[in-house]
Amino acid sequence: MDIIKPEDNPKKSVINWASLRENRAKYEAMKWTDLPPIEKNFYKESSRTASMSREEVELWRKENNNIICDDLKEGEKRCIPNPVCKFEDVFEHYPDIMANIRKVGFQKPTPIQSQAWPIILQGIDLIGIAQTGTGKTLAYLMPGFIHLTSQPISKGQRGGPGMLVLTPTRELALQVEAECSKYTYKGIKSICIYGGGDRKGQIDVVTKGVDIVIATPGRLNDLQMNNFINLKSITYLVLDEADRMLDMGFEPQIMKILIDVRPDRQTVMTSATWPDGVRRLAKSYLKNPMIVYVGTLDLAAVNTVEQRVVVIAEEEKRAFMQYFIDSMKPKDKVIIFVGKKLTADDLASDLGLQGIPVQSLHGNREQCDREQALDDFKKGKVRILVATDLASRGLDVHDITHVFNFDFPRNIEEYVHRVGRTGRAGRTGEAVTLVTKSNWRVASELIEILERTNQVRIHLTGGKKKSKQQQQQKKPTQNKTETRVVR
Ligand code: ADP
Ligand code: MG
Repeated sequence: MDIIKPEDNPKKSVINWASLRENRAKYEAMKWTDLPPIEKNFYKESSRTASMSREEVELWRKENNNIICDDLKEGEKRCIPNPVCKFEDVFEHYPDIMANIRKVGFQKPTPIQSQAWPIILQGIDLIGIAQTGTGKTLAYLMPGFIHLTSQPISKGQRGGPGMLVLTPTRELALQVEAECSKYTYKGIKSICIYGGGDRKGQIDVVTKGVDIVIATPGRLNDLQMNNFINLKSITYLVLDEADRMLDMGFEPQIMKILIDVRPDRQTVMTSATWPDGVRRLAKSYLKNPMIVYVGTLDLAAVNTVEQRVVVIAEEEKRAFMQYFIDSMKPKDKVIIFVGKKLTADDLASDLGLQGIPVQSLHGNREQCDREQALDDFKKGKVRILVATDLASRGLDVHDITHVFNFDFPRNIEEYVHRVGRTGRAGRTGEAVTLVTKSNWRVASELIEILERTNQVRIHLTGGKKKSKQQQQQKKPTQNKTETRVVR
């Protein structure tokens, strides 16, 4: 038999993968050659900020919504800069910015601003996690203004916008634009690009040259694909409300947009929450970032909640929940947290079939159904609400007596957030958390963090080993490890 080697067969063209790969790498490298250098570090620490002692810094962070900072750089960690307690501490060399701040009459930086400014102004990538309404916009805009106007090349030489802010919705884009215009600095021009807006008008402005583009990912990607916008000139990038952008399914567009933004830019990302998706995004698009997490939760509430951790087998979880519900008193109100929408539906219909009034709250339900569910729960029409974390954000029902974590929370923020749903406004509450073998690693980590951050002091009173007899018992309460809060 004749064996035809590819190179012997003139008809068949052979793909040379190695050369393709090599060319691609060459192309990638070529794409970013001849770009002007970027200046990133503009921070001069004031003597007042520099003189803060370690204790003062720690106290300040604790008193300002429990700020937690971390350096996510691998290897040797850098020093997290001290917070700036006054506007002058950070902008004294920028009189125009100071004048703008005086004009609007702000008293002092918000917690996220105090801690974010010295980091961003040093040219370090930042992840800022803080609740809505905490001043994140100015936290990235002010350093952005300074960055834009302090580059070694002039605006004319740049050949396109220097700063890009991606936001999830048109409303947010307009809000950011309004802040940009309110604090006009050295004639910086900004433009808003969003779906539904006047596409031709937006193209006209973009092509005429602007400094800051504030855009929703969908429309920007559309202009980019049609070569109406040059993104190569961007050196300061903001991913605003990253969690919402992901929830809205914008990840593919963000990916496409960022292919054209130079990799040595500075990137700031904000988010109200810190779930896995946002962590992944941060890992892909930020370089050696620092993170500033402003404790948005009423961590004090956690102190008024008695917390129990129940070690249990996966298949016993339902029986335990049933037992828990059966022992509810008439005035009790419980929110049952699950990890998946499917589980929420499943548990809710299970209870419904038994004639137990229940509602469920998750991202797949229509907005009106979600509002109805919440209303029923608030008014006490139902005393059980099965919810996923996504749908429960910001949920404020003051008389929840119990939080039942059917599925183990993914991380510390989620745990604290869930537990904080009860024990509100000075009331006491109880939280029960089911832990299976597969969660145990995260669970022990969580207990350690809670202890370390002094939010609560917990000790495990030790779980009893199950006897054969107990295993046969229906009542699964025998099999529990108590985690009690020492107040
Ligand atoms: P976020 O993006 O965190 O949701 P915003 O940036 O929209 O919050 O800020 C919320 C409001 O707070 C805005 O009206 C903004 O002008 C105002 N604000 C920002 N910084 C300060 C400050 N240092 N002091 C008082 N108000 C501020
Ligand atoms: Mg915002």
